[in-house]
Amino acid sequence: MMDQRIITVAPTGAWPTKRENPNVPMTPQEIAEDVEACYHAGAAICHLHMRDEYGLPTMDAARFEEAVRLIKKSGIDIIINLSTSGALDATDETRQAHIRSIRPEMASYNAGTMNWMHRFVFLNTPDFMEELGRTMLECGIKPEVEIFDAGMVYNAAHYVETGVLQAPVHYQLVLGAAGGMKATIDNLLFLKNLLPADATWSAFGIGRAHVPVMLTTLALGGHLRVGMEDNVYFAAGELAESNAQFVRRAAALIEHAGMKVATPEEAREILGLERVCSFE
Ligand code: ZN
Repeated sequence: MMDQRIITVAPTGAWPTKRENPNVPMTPQEIAEDVEACYHAGAAICHLHMRDEYGLPTMDAARFEEAVRLIKKSGIDIIINLSTSGALDATDETRQAHIRSIRPEMASYNAGTMNWMHRFVFLNTPDFMEELGRTMLECGIKPEVEIFDAGMVYNAAHYVETGVLQAPVHYQLVLGAAGGMKATIDNLLFLKNLLPADATWSAFGIGRAHVPVMLTTLALGGHLRVGMEDNVYFAAGELAESNAQFVRRAAALIEHAGMKVATPEEAREILGLERVCSFE
């Protein structure tokens, strides 16, 4: 079997604005259209955040539901991965309400608390981490364990030991978020080597190191994440035209490396997903 690599697209995130890049999709309609284009370019997973009518991050379950409904209506079988963080007014409840109602195949699980971008505390209390893990187990949602710093790998290991997370775990290594680890090749290698042997993992770099981190991730056996949540620039001084532009580059790199871009069906197999999100 060919070496298959999964592309996740993170089209919006919580922070980029239309002022920084007018091509960031904001409304559920824009997000759904963007995701459809990314699917056709090779993305197997979409990692979604929502914005309110002012473009500010929100955990409003109705917005998530609208976006997922539109994506489903377009007939594509892309894996739905919903964020459980982002909005400044988020509570432990609102960070889970949408995943309870939608039951996406995947959702993000942040493996610890950090000082986010020197701006505020990105709070993930021990109580919340236990509760979120149990919600995901109950709802059959595969956690995407987001790692911003080495200590978070050990924190996640604790939750595997206590049964809050189930092995094999899927990790997303986030490099270059201020407050976490810098996006360097050494840091990527270091983090990757901390992961358990049965783990699946993906990585991305924010900013200039985006492409080098992507190339190294391919060489190390990882999967890729791209999109305007992480980078509004496609290259130095060049704003991204679309999220699909990032996906096309990732797909081309995978193919040039002699590997295969995983379809959503293949990605479900690789990640051990047991079901397809059936929200309508
Ligand atoms: Zn996110």
